[in-house]
Amino acid sequence: MIRMILLDNGHGSDTPGKRSPVWSDGLYVQEWRYARMVVDGIADGLERMGIPYAILVPEEKDVALGERCRRANRIAKRNGAHQVLLISVHLNASNVVNAASGWEIHTYKGTSASDEYAKVFWNCAEEELGDRFPMRGDFIDADPDWDSNFAILRDTVCPAVLTENLFMTNEKDCRFLMSDEGFKTIVDIHLKAIAKICGISG
Ligand SMILES: [Zn+2]
Repeated sequence: MIRMILLDNGHGSDTPGKRSPVWSDGLYVQEWRYARMVVDGIADGLERMGIPYAILVPEEKDVALGERCRRANRIAKRNGAHQVLLISVHLNASNVVNAASGWEIHTYKGTSASDEYAKVFWNCAEEELGDRFPMRGDFIDADPDWDSNFAILRDTVCPAVLTENLFMTNEKDCRFLMSDEGFKTIVDIHLKAIAKICGISG
């Protein structure tokens, strides 16, 4: 049973790239800023639900992956690694503008508890987004998450998932993300999944 959540917000204000195009009306999104807003929104929800959590990178500047993993592992070991779930929040991007759209979740390669937790996230995302955006699954190994060799998933001792919350390089995705409804939806997907995983109903 998961009893504590570690929230990782991808990148930092000094990470190059990692932003959307500037759309016709000047609107754009920076991944580091958005991920921090989402993580803060999730943290507020966890506070309300009484679920212990920690924000791995309170800084605005980028913190190297090695240090992110060290911080995560310190907290995870203190709290019993299998009782801690790390969630890394990102926005997706493609090289070609408007070429890709939709929602993804990643876990490290192979089968682990992370795959079960990812499935819960997937179901919540499908409920919230499935009628409006593609659900981008990788069903080669019978579960919808992508098996990815990302350091934050590989080098952490606790279960870990990484959410790619729509494509900032897609105008429809990006405008949805930047809307109040879109922001709330992204936060809610995470909160609903966490509530299920932690065995809290409602
Ligand atoms: Zn990212």
